[in-house]
Amino acid sequence: MSNKPMILVVEDDAAVRNLMAVTLETRGYRYHLAPNGTEALIEATTHQPDVILLDLGLPDMDGVEIIRKVRSWSAMPIIVISARSEDSDKVEALDAGADDYLTKPFSVDEMLARIRVALRRLNADQQAVSRENTCYENGSLRIDYAAGCAWIGDEEIHLTPIEYRLLCLLARNTGKVLTHNYILKEIWGSYTSSEVGSLRVFMAMLRKKLQVGGDAQPYIQTHIGIGYRMLRQDRTTEDAQ
Ligand code: CA
Repeated sequence: MSNKPMILVVEDDAAVRNLMAVTLETRGYRYHLAPNGTEALIEATTHQPDVILLDLGLPDMDGVEIIRKVRSWSAMPIIVISARSEDSDKVEALDAGADDYLTKPFSVDEMLARIRVALRRLNADQQAVSRENTCYENGSLRIDYAAGCAWIGDEEIHLTPIEYRLLCLLARNTGKVLTHNYILKEIWGSYTSSEVGSLRVFMAMLRKKLQVGGDAQPYIQTHIGIGYRMLRQDRTTEDAQ
């Protein structure tokens, strides 16, 4: 089958790169390998992979620079891999347009789970383009964008205008980690770190309202010090960490 997903692995550590390649091969993915940023950009444009796994610390350029370049022409999912424990690097990469992140050391199962989330987003995006995109469905959550209403099952959930905008922003980016910075800019048009506290309060309220009639599906995932992500619920819950 030639329609197996294609993964581009960008990693300068040969041992890690080989482990990733073997894992992908075993699971039936096609892949290309790049040991530095220059080759990564060539591979990305030549092969148009479905997902890029990108190490942030490369010998010839910063991974964030690669994200910016790829984003200038493609929305392909990018999962960054960082050995750095600092959240600011991940936040910078996510703000530059990365979808998700893995922190070294990571297990191959974790890597495969993240790839599945990224491929799901890709599929959902393609379906959304081919369909009239006025309704959103995820597990028992439903949003009618045209009517401006949201439901859990048959029960309408009553949201304030800000809660509704937060829910729509997360829904439109299902599977992608959105940083505090990005959310504050999209919802309030500004960003100061003191507003992260208010965002947390709004998110807590929104989460509570999504738990209707014993529906305890974890729609919104918290990434401490980084941001939030809407998880897709309708197929399996295996990615709900
Ligand atoms: Ca590295």
